Amino acid sequence: MRRRGANLPTIGGFNQAVVFDIVRRASGGVSRTEITAQTDLSAQTVSNVARRLLDGGLVREGDKVSSGPGKPRTTLHLVPDARLAIGIHLDPARITYSIVDLLGRVVARHSTATPGGQAPGDVEQSMISTTRSLIEQGDVDPRRIIGIGVAAPGPVDIERGSVNDPPLLPGWNDVPLRDALADAFDMPTVLVKDVTSATVGELWAGGHEQAGGDLAVFYMGSGVGLGIALEHTALRGATANLGDIGHLRVSSGGPVCKCGRRGCLGDAVSPARIVNAAAAMGAGEAVAPSDHAAVAIAFAAMCDRADADEAVRGLLDELAEHIAEAVTQIVNLLDVSTVVMSGPIWAEAARHTLEGVRSRVAASTALVLPHPVSIVDSALGPDAAAVGAGCQVLESAFALGDPSPFTRRALTA
Ligand SMILES: [Zn+2]
Repeated sequence: MRRRGANLPTIGGFNQAVVFDIVRRASGGVSRTEITAQTDLSAQTVSNVARRLLDGGLVREGDKVSSGPGKPRTTLHLVPDARLAIGIHLDPARITYSIVDLLGRVVARHSTATPGGQAPGDVEQSMISTTRSLIEQGDVDPRRIIGIGVAAPGPVDIERGSVNDPPLLPGWNDVPLRDALADAFDMPTVLVKDVTSATVGELWAGGHEQAGGDLAVFYMGSGVGLGIALEHTALRGATANLGDIGHLRVSSGGPVCKCGRRGCLGDAVSPARIVNAAAAMGAGEAVAPSDHAAVAIAFAAMCDRADADEAVRGLLDELAEHIAEAVTQIVNLLDVSTVVMSGPIWAEAARHTLEGVRSRVAASTALVLPHPVSIVDSALGPDAAAVGAGCQVLESAFALGDPSPFTRRALTA
């Protein structure tokens, strides 16, 4: 892909982002000449931008390499730990904290059960103190941290940075989570919907280069959602709440959904419903559906029992069937060739359901695409949305657009 650029006398954020993006993606380093050839930038502009990135410590020079006639060229390499980002994921069951480097690799992490029945303000305070101790225990220089990304279930109000009454987080109505974190750490902070966060994480750190930047991310935490990336960009929708697939119909039976119909995906793949169905068959204890932390623990225990329990295997096979029905509709709609399966509940079920999803989608008579569909497990595991929230900070800092507060901090840290 050829990158455009503007040969302006000043080194703008845009040109810097173009050059930085090429260096970041070149795992073996890249020379200034090669960058010039890949962009519309002049050799002088590339040289100026490279100097600024070198001065900022974001890139380093490698060995001189000879390729054909002419003088040997010095390669430029990313310095992955030159800058870091904090990513936090507020899920109804667990809160996950991560610090990622410029490649989206985790350098420190922590995870706790989401406290049930606490006021949002108290949960915010505990998020702040846990983040603070992660920075201290990870021995991370705060000056290298570009900012904070925080992922939460939708709906979110991106303008105001608030969590806006997600169905599975009672009491979180109009809670200004972004500003609470920004004020506590005096850092640029961005709020993002959890499925979008997971999608940004897959783009930065998921290892899907062969997918050409087109991905569907099927996300299963306490709730279910869809992330979409087209041409290396995570789609967000008019209010950044894209991806609610809870009312896709995946069966003709099942309980009556709150929308009044039967067979909705949200009910079909609800971990609370599945663990209680298992309990009704004598596999484990029943759990209050509103106790999301307990549901997640019970779901993990149920999956551990699957190898020895045919009834549990039957439930997980039914789960695979419902997911496959949704995935078939999604790939038909989007014409993507890669679907990434992600989220903390999925991470528990993956070993027992991935093959069942793959084989059903491949065999579906409803699949209309003229190409194979690759359905893969996320390499980011249960931390995908937290890692993605950190990657959202990187995305905001180095995006090919107007410089953001993250950009200024990234370039001056
Ligand atoms: Zn419904």
